[in-house]
Amino acid sequence: MSRILVVEDEAAIAELIAINLRHAGFDVVLAATAEQAQREVDQMLPELAILDWMLPSQSGLALARSWRQNVRTRDLPLIMLTARSEENDKIAGLDAGADDYLTKPFSPKELLARIRAVLRRRAPEALDAPVEVAGLTLDPSTRRVTRDGVEVKLGPTEFRLLHFLMTHPERVHSRAQLLDRVWGDHVFIEERTVDVHVKRLREALGLSDGKRLIETVRGAGYRLNQQMQTQAD
Ligand code: CA
Repeated sequence: MSRILVVEDEAAIAELIAINLRHAGFDVVLAATAEQAQREVDQMLPELAILDWMLPSQSGLALARSWRQNVRTRDLPLIMLTARSEENDKIAGLDAGADDYLTKPFSPKELLARIRAVLRRRAPEALDAPVEVAGLTLDPSTRRVTRDGVEVKLGPTEFRLLHFLMTHPERVHSRAQLLDRVWGDHVFIEERTVDVHVKRLREALGLSDGKRLIETVRGAGYRLNQQMQTQAD
């Protein structure tokens, strides 16, 4: 289930957002201050954050800027909320690295539509749409994986790992990034754990094919090779 961090100091608005997001199937974490939001993010990286501009001490804008400067949070999908509607604020929000921007009052329906659009663009693994890459088909809603029409049996971690790799093909992901994005918690798990699950995933896909499909990039991490079928003979 995709986790969304809602950073909003007005309890009524935070609760309204939380109810709607939970109803839409998201896991919601609430934070009322920038400091609290930072603690949540340090513990577990969410799939997306909704960030109010006006917060009690540090502003949402300052928090967005600091997240964008940090390697770990640089790519965190971000939607900013504000009561202001001035064009300058909107530009400042987008300059600070927000993916989208919503002016209060907004309808929960619109917020959901914006969330889905941002996730589609930035974190497609957080959505339930089926993915097809290199002869593999993965359907998150049925949790089934097929390879050229034949079902591949995977454990839950291998399934999430493959889902992430398939929605971000050709990119090299470090073990730390995979822990953050697939396991969701980088603090308590050793990086070797990633190697163990990559090995299991490769075995499930047929070891030699699996090794070509999920390539080890020495000193960097792993990459799902989209062109595998055309390269293999
Ligand atoms: Ca506020």
